[in-house]
Amino acid sequence: MIDFSELTRGEMQQALVDLGVPSFHGTQIFRWLHKRGVSDPAAMTDLSRELRAKLAESITVTTPKLVKKEISSDGTIKFLFELADGQRIESVYIPDTPAQTFCVSTQVGCAMKCAFCLTGKMGLLRNLTAGEIAGQVRVLAHETHLADQSFNVVLMGMGEPLHNYDAVMKSLQMLADEEGLAVHPRRVTLSTVGVVPAMAKLAEEELMPNLAISLHATTEEQRDRLVPINRKYDIEELIEACRQMPLRRRGKITFEYVMLAGENDSPEDAKRLVKLLRGLKAKVNLLPLNEAKGIEFRRPSDDVVNRFAKILADADVTVSVRKSRGRDIRAACGQLATDR
Ligand code: SAH
Repeated sequence: MIDFSELTRGEMQQALVDLGVPSFHGTQIFRWLHKRGVSDPAAMTDLSRELRAKLAESITVTTPKLVKKEISSDGTIKFLFELADGQRIESVYIPDTPAQTFCVSTQVGCAMKCAFCLTGKMGLLRNLTAGEIAGQVRVLAHETHLADQSFNVVLMGMGEPLHNYDAVMKSLQMLADEEGLAVHPRRVTLSTVGVVPAMAKLAEEELMPNLAISLHATTEEQRDRLVPINRKYDIEELIEACRQMPLRRRGKITFEYVMLAGENDSPEDAKRLVKLLRGLKAKVNLLPLNEAKGIEFRRPSDDVVNRFAKILADADVTVSVRKSRGRDIRAACGQLATDR
């Protein structure tokens, strides 16, 4: 049995040819699965009865199983999925920011162990497959009735996308397909702690998403503690890799900066950040910490956040403060973690 949820449209066509079926049916099946959200071949009514019977015998179509949906008071919805092997992941729908946004996971857990992130506490259980990554978007788009509208996808759920490079890139190819959800890479943002060699690879990709860098610190000593991968790829190397990234016209790299009280929120930190980003097409997104049990840091006051933001703005750095969404259902940044 071949799992069609793991195939690009081209691969579906090839798989059908291998089964002795004309390749154009691949486009029909791809459309059913991705555009219409139908994964049972028996329900693909524009295929002949004979073909449907043949498919029932030779292919499977795996879809992440939705086990729980929690709705926040602000409209954010957190989806809990169970995968074929029983592992669990979370995805989030964030409405009107101003666009409709789906935040999806790329791994079960995460190996990066950032000091303030709950997902990191889980450790890495396994990588998601391309079909599981695209599958989250597929289910969310149909659950929210947005499959025919434009929406954004952010790879900011559980996991480090550049630590699961091939599956992530393949999922972007499936999502971008015009016969499916047609999510142009321009509408996709990949957030990374800065796996520098993978960034160099990404720079060569045809389907290059927007990039967000989880910077969170302005000195090597500080980042070594907060984002342990810094001991391998330090700030200097990371910023240099950012300089090498090709950008779209008017495109910018987003730098995410989680704000931790008394740790990285001083005016000196802000000034160092301005310096670090000098000459880069950058915008800064400040993420006041979402506190959680088991996380030793505290969220700074709004005044401290605003003082920090003002120093950046006064130095002509584009800055925004991320409004925390879905905190009441533990759907906010760094709060995604499942029990097993
Ligand atoms: N591994 C990737 C993708 C996850 S994106 C990355 O780190 O970029 C999730 C974002 O939320 C990251 O910027 C992460 O550092 C941030 N984050 C993690 N824990 C957080 C918390 N408790 N409060 C606010 N932001 C947090």
